[in-house]
Amino acid sequence: MLGRGRISIPVIVTGIVFSMLPDADIIGFQFGIEYGDSWGHRGATHSLTFAAVIAMLTTAILRPDRYMIAGLYLFLAMASHGLLDMLTNGGLGAALFWPISDARIFAPITPIAVSPIGVADFISARGLTVLYSEITWIWTPLLFLVGTVYLVSRGSAKWRQQSGTEK
Ligand SMILES: [Zn+2]
Repeated sequence: MLGRGRISIPVIVTGIVFSMLPDADIIGFQFGIEYGDSWGHRGATHSLTFAAVIAMLTTAILRPDRYMIAGLYLFLAMASHGLLDMLTNGGLGAALFWPISDARIFAPITPIAVSPIGVADFISARGLTVLYSEITWIWTPLLFLVGTVYLVSRGSAKWRQQSGTEK
């Protein structure tokens, strides 16, 4: 059956966008939302709840064949962003457990180096440097992860196809 056993291209692409989407929260700085606010940078959009809700809504809209796998994939794509931000040594941590807790959390170890950032940095040229550093340290591994999931799911689909047609 076509499209069975793999995550479809639209879902893959959505996952890639989702792995970056939480950082769209920096737009809030333009509207006077503070870094430390619930909806500030690394706030609600970086939480597990937000990732779960968005993944469910998107799955309901896209209606993929294997919706459980697609939904899980979309959730992981977005949730992994907040988890990776917890490993950085700059700025505030991620509000992983919003709305239960607004606390900004870091992992016990923070091996990913980012330049310390302040609100003003985002509206200056340095904001671009910060974003560049996040692109390098967060988004590159995420793209790699998403790409791997895609290749593995494609490979297993092919394998299933082949073993299905064998006599
Ligand atoms: Zn982020």
